[in-house]
Amino acid sequence: MNPGYHEMGPIRPPSEGRDRSLLLRVTRNCPWNRCIFCATYKNKAYGLRAVEEIKRDIDTVSALAEGLKVTSWRLGLRGNITAEVVAYFVRRHPDRYGEGGAAPEVVRRRLESLYNVAGWLASGARTVFLQDANALQYPADRLVEVLQHLKGTFPSVERVTSYARSKTLARKAPDVLRRLRDAGLVRLHVGLESGCDEVLAFMQKGTTAAEHLLAGRKALEAGMELSEYYMPGLGGRRWSEKHALESARLLNEIGPHFIRLRTLVPRPGTPLLEKVRSGEFALLSEDEVVEEIGLFVENLHCRTYLASDQMSNLLWEVEGRLPEDKPAILQAIRSYLEKPLHERLAVQLERRLSSYLMVWGSLPPPLEREVEEAWESVRREDPAAAAKVQRVLERVKQAFV
Ligand code: SF4
Repeated sequence: MNPGYHEMGPIRPPSEGRDRSLLLRVTRNCPWNRCIFCATYKNKAYGLRAVEEIKRDIDTVSALAEGLKVTSWRLGLRGNITAEVVAYFVRRHPDRYGEGGAAPEVVRRRLESLYNVAGWLASGARTVFLQDANALQYPADRLVEVLQHLKGTFPSVERVTSYARSKTLARKAPDVLRRLRDAGLVRLHVGLESGCDEVLAFMQKGTTAAEHLLAGRKALEAGMELSEYYMPGLGGRRWSEKHALESARLLNEIGPHFIRLRTLVPRPGTPLLEKVRSGEFALLSEDEVVEEIGLFVENLHCRTYLASDQMSNLLWEVEGRLPEDKPAILQAIRSYLEKPLHERLAVQLERRLSSYLMVWGSLPPPLEREVEEAWESVRREDPAAAAKVQRVLERVKQAFV
């Protein structure tokens, strides 16, 4: 029986959120699931979804899209998908979306599915993201079949992307990658995290710098666009410099289209947070992370686009095309680091809180009080201000997504 929604996993890259991509789940969770800094799929079993199940999801999306378009025309909006169209559609189908119908969990999934489809249509139905953590693990023949059904159903789709682990990518034969590329999978997001083998081993990434290089080259040779994620702070105090230099060197060798910064935030429930608490891993301060990013950028010499499109990053202005924008990016880093301490603390509070509020809307009262105290301390240039801000930011960042 069709449940009335298409299944979606928990995350997608921020760039796919910005493009309002359709989320299509081909695998569930992560086949590796051992990186000690990652909590996304902890305690969740990995699995492949059946081709028929995914095709049924595509057909569900098609039916929802049709329903939304008909509703739009009925409202005189000429096929445009607006909030009014979605609200009307929901009201017209109380059996699907009303409280008296299905179980609350099913209704929640139906609404999420509908909002994803509506956002995707409103943005032109051009981009699709295959979930979850490593769609390349899906057998290539079957993935091609899924891609053909997707593109046959929605000829408007121009770009299909997915996450890929370097370990998996490095093992793929070049002709298999080209077949996937020709079938429509044109961009891969790879969690490089670091180009330093000590860091990769400590974090149990399950991949080496050499495999990252091979994987990146294979993706590019197959004609795919490549987006690599670098995680500032992942080397901690011990490897910060090496992490920055070796990551820059590796990325120079790969030459990806995009390098995306995703600063380390230790997540509750991860082995890394335990190591932080036990003193086995020393976290960098906000300022030290900015210094590390400066060293990283200084040593990047490849032609690429550097993006800071994740809420974990403090300085959103560390973004631009390289090498052209490198001087401006380095200047932005210098101007932050040259500010007096209380001004840097004010930037930290302001930026981190605005990211938090963007997602959650307001602060819970106990945290709000702590934030006010931290602000007061910064305004008075109190010597205890740095410690207060750090305490507050640790709590604020736990809620980052
Ligand atoms: S491979 Fe990616 S999703 Fe899987 S555990 Fe590591 S960071 Fe998390």
